Amino acid sequence: MPNTREEDQLVKQAINQLSNLYGDYILGNPFVMGVLGCPSGSLFNYVHFLDDGPFRKTLLLSGKIPDGCQVRGSTDRQGTRFAKDHSVVWINRSVATAGTVLHELLHALSDNTWYLWAYSKKPWLNEGVTEYLTRRVTKKADDDSFREDRSGTYEDELASLKQMRTMAKQASSMPVVRNGRRQPQPPQPEQAPKSLREDICDAYFRGKFSQNLNDAVALFG
Ligand SMILES: [Zn+2]
Repeated sequence: MPNTREEDQLVKQAINQLSNLYGDYILGNPFVMGVLGCPSGSLFNYVHFLDDGPFRKTLLLSGKIPDGCQVRGSTDRQGTRFAKDHSVVWINRSVATAGTVLHELLHALSDNTWYLWAYSKKPWLNEGVTEYLTRRVTKKADDDSFREDRSGTYEDELASLKQMRTMAKQASSMPVVRNGRRQPQPPQPEQAPKSLREDICDAYFRGKFSQNLNDAVALFG
């Protein structure tokens, strides 16, 4: 069954929500432009809602294991198997929520350099940051809603989300560490330093990495 009208609407709504918060980073992105310019009834070329059986079959064809966030949705970020020139998102309509759509769209919008960098740093970083950016849109912060949204490796994903939140909170108060010693904070420059939140978005959507972000990630094991 192709996407229903309501499912297409859910995708457009998610793109709007993401544009409101991350517009500076994602407007002009080929995936976003593709979704926005897509004729009605063709959106499944970008975000494809599937029943449970076909969804799991697609996962297997993509060499993925149905686990963690991938029970509800999955993203082929390079579009290697189908679209070729843009990401493709699959959503398991039997279990997905609006949060699932946001989460998977974020994966689709993430920069490939980010993806490779994140995995080279910490195994939890990509999922933690993706869920952190999702939560900034949904404003759902409680762990119970996270449990509802996840299965399988949810304990690991919850831990990574918590690490991510802690990391973002430390943004402004982060001590400068050199040679293993904490240095006194330098006097505030005239222009306030970019917050870690912006550094995260620069890295996630644009593949640009600040020393600030590198330092923050290094604080966590
Ligand atoms: Zn994910």
